[in-house]
Amino acid sequence: MPVPPDQALRATPEAPADAGLAALADRCVQCGLCLPHCPTYRLDQTEAESPRGRISYIKAVAQGRLAPTPAGDAHLDHCLGCRRCEPVCPAGVPYGELLVGARAAQAARRPPPMKLRAAGWLLARPPLLGRLVDLQRVAGWLPTALRPALPPAPKAVAMPAPRAAAVREVAVFIGCIADRYESGTRAALARLLGAADIAVALPDGQGCCGAAAAHAGDSATAARLAAANRQAFAGRDAVLCLASGCQDSLARSLHAVAPVEDALTALDRLGDRLRFRPARHRVALHLPCTQRSVVRSDAALRRLLARVPGLDLVELPDTGCCGAAGLHQLAEPARADALRAPLLAALAGSGASELLSANIGCRLHLANGAIMPVRHPIDFLAEHLA
Ligand code: SF4
Ligand code: SF4
Repeated sequence: MPVPPDQALRATPEAPADAGLAALADRCVQCGLCLPHCPTYRLDQTEAESPRGRISYIKAVAQGRLAPTPAGDAHLDHCLGCRRCEPVCPAGVPYGELLVGARAAQAARRPPPMKLRAAGWLLARPPLLGRLVDLQRVAGWLPTALRPALPPAPKAVAMPAPRAAAVREVAVFIGCIADRYESGTRAALARLLGAADIAVALPDGQGCCGAAAAHAGDSATAARLAAANRQAFAGRDAVLCLASGCQDSLARSLHAVAPVEDALTALDRLGDRLRFRPARHRVALHLPCTQRSVVRSDAALRRLLARVPGLDLVELPDTGCCGAAGLHQLAEPARADALRAPLLAALAGSGASELLSANIGCRLHLANGAIMPVRHPIDFLAEHLA
């Protein structure tokens, strides 16, 4: 239920201050230009569900002027972390950084619900999570914490052998839930790169990117996962990421260790070396928030798809976040469904027979509501390699 900002912000001079968080929040000049771009503001039409409202709350609490309240924390919980507010902000407020800091402070004073802690614990342990996902495929069983988010996983697909002509090798980030859901996509990427004489390596020891942990305020787990990935990718001269929602977190973890790039951006650069056969059906395209606002590989993806002769591509209208938003779809299933509804309506009216989306979280959430296959664009491109 919407809560007026003045109810959410109650003065408590004795609350501890957080100067770093307050300084970040102080960069907001309250212009409100971000409001129409924020999916939760569009959904609820209240200031407290806007970037400006959340920043005011974070700043007041961080300065020790106001007490954290259940209502104010609920508005912070509703933030999708989509970062659509960042590129439109004239003051350059680093909202993603601010959110991670605010959620860490929030988790210290009010631990997240058990369901989210259990899901976060599993995401940080991809081998165990993978075994549970396999169990769901064969026996239909899955822990309650994950059930709303996960459709059955496809069967594992083996990686193709590297071509003898390969002149270079790139590393590919696997991720947590994508370990089981994207084996076919990793094999498809290997086929596309192989066509340009590039081999793929999947380094051992890598794990979750840590974005879910950071957004849940669990900075210790996020730091542990970052350290494991730094060790796994040390010395690599290129690391490709298949999920736009993981890339920023991974790139921050691997800063000064290895460069991270969206796999679509890398393929776009190799585009002249790829030949595709014609497509014969209408395909819908969904652009995830993180692809639009953080990774910004949407133009590269459009160029790649334009190389497929005869492709009848329908780009879905930007109706806002699909509602997946990491663990948001588990924490707030009703809000996640409400955010997804206009996108599903546009998809149903598109005349397409499949949907492409480049982020694993969005794909799983959309697949739970869509009446057609939902795939990574790389699966589609590899299928149409000439
Ligand atoms: S991250 Fe997304 S949901 Fe959160 S305030 Fe920014 S635009 Fe709104
Ligand atoms: S656009 Fe930037 S400065 Fe303006 S209200 Fe939003 S976050 Fe604050």
